[in-house]
Amino acid sequence: MSWGFETDPEYQKVLDWAEAFVTEEVEPVDCVITHAYDMEDPLRQALIPPLQQRVREKGLWATHLGPELGGQGFGQLKLGLLNEIIGRTHSGPIVFGAQAPDSGNSEILAHYGTPELKERFLKPLVNGDIVSCYSMTEPQGGSDPTSFITSAVADGDSWVINGEKWFSSNARFASFFIIMAVTDPEAARTDRASMFIVPADTPGVEIVRNTGVWGHNYEVGTHAYMRFTDVRIPRDHLLGEVGRGFAVAQTRLGGGRIHHAMRTVGLVRASLDMMMERAKTRQTRGGSLADKQLVQQMVADSWIELEQFRLLVLRTAWRIDQYKDYRRVINDIAAVKSAMPKVLHDVASRAMQVHGSLGVSDELPLGKWLSESYHMALADGATEIHKMQIGRNLMRNVEPAPGLWPTMHLPARVESAREKFRPQLEDLGLY
Ligand SMILES: Cc1cc2nc3c(=O)[nH]c(=O)nc-3n(C[C@H](O)[C@H](O)[C@H](O)COP(=O)(O)OP(=O)(O)OC[C@H]3O[C@@H](n4cnc5c(N)ncnc54)[C@H](O)[C@@H]3O)c2cc1C
Repeated sequence: MSWGFETDPEYQKVLDWAEAFVTEEVEPVDCVITHAYDMEDPLRQALIPPLQQRVREKGLWATHLGPELGGQGFGQLKLGLLNEIIGRTHSGPIVFGAQAPDSGNSEILAHYGTPELKERFLKPLVNGDIVSCYSMTEPQGGSDPTSFITSAVADGDSWVINGEKWFSSNARFASFFIIMAVTDPEAARTDRASMFIVPADTPGVEIVRNTGVWGHNYEVGTHAYMRFTDVRIPRDHLLGEVGRGFAVAQTRLGGGRIHHAMRTVGLVRASLDMMMERAKTRQTRGGSLADKQLVQQMVADSWIELEQFRLLVLRTAWRIDQYKDYRRVINDIAAVKSAMPKVLHDVASRAMQVHGSLGVSDELPLGKWLSESYHMALADGATEIHKMQIGRNLMRNVEPAPGLWPTMHLPARVESAREKFRPQLEDLGLY
């Protein structure tokens, strides 16, 4: 039997290096660049590639990918521990080659791309030379994929795509889109859609507008309202089989969701660290905030919630490594995904409160992190949908009670126990 919660000393050295590297090299970059995905920004190009090179030299590039894709094949648990460190920064994920949505998109291409597509798109993506976009949600609804109407029609050697997509993150920086489109509207619910790769420079690909989100101060929003008008792509740009779009999506969403959760551990820890530092520093009514019991409770609640969440994330990562099959950990991932927004929301909110007016100001990152908790309740699927799925799955094999009363109904249990121990009870004159 093995059961342990320790990081092996060799990997701990790696994590210590990452902690120092992120603090000394990555966090300062966040303070001066506009967006880590913007390859057109000369400052970004001057600062980020040298850091990526140092990560490569350290053997920490894209650690979740296997060596055949230029990664280390560390698996999800080790990535989880690393992502906790990277996750508190904006540029960290891209510096370590583990950023969303590219990590998930690279998994799709690795599984379903032809050798030519891999050479043209996967290689530069994994090298960090380009970034990509995942385009699934449509303006009329994201939670119900059966409402999607963007279509792909086979025509000679091509597929022709028409429709609109909504909130396609990083579209304006992307060299290609992975897009879900309906190939057979009459098919069963889960067999209607297929997945495609669309190079960004294909005629008919249009960004209608870039939408921003509350809390992010980029000059131009990074979530695009997209229009695809008679977009013609070669037949081999279909990823997976026709009608298997939802199955292909799971290849990326499983990984994508757990990676977000790993990074969120980092943001929650940073919020708690800030809360504690402020509590120790701020003097009021003859003592520090740290001496006030209500503040101690805020710190305690935050630590308990962080540790609970972290254990769930790491156990889920461990299970992914064990089973190498996202379908077997679907509930674990949905649980982590559902827990993530709340823990970040609650801990970042307390950290804001403890910082007083400074906490809600734009001179601290807490407001941005709080707004990210709301993003996390939506990106990669709304919390309610994940909770529904967990509840449904958990109850799938549960039998209804055989009679009128629940199996745990105490009168029946006492009666049955008295029958079981009847001889002993009789001996004592209790029956
Ligand atoms: C920061 C961010 C980044 C994103 N990036 C991408 C991206 O790169 N690519 C992409 O394709 N999409 C992206 N999305 C979109 C995301 O996938 C959708 O927001 C999500 O699927 C919900 O769809 P919706 O916004 O249309 O909300 P709706 O489907 O309209 O749902 C709104 C709300 O209704 C409730 N609800 C919906 N259905 C049910 C139900 N069955 N039971 C109970 N309650 C329900 C939930 O509270 C839900 O939040 C991103 C979103 C955010 C916030």
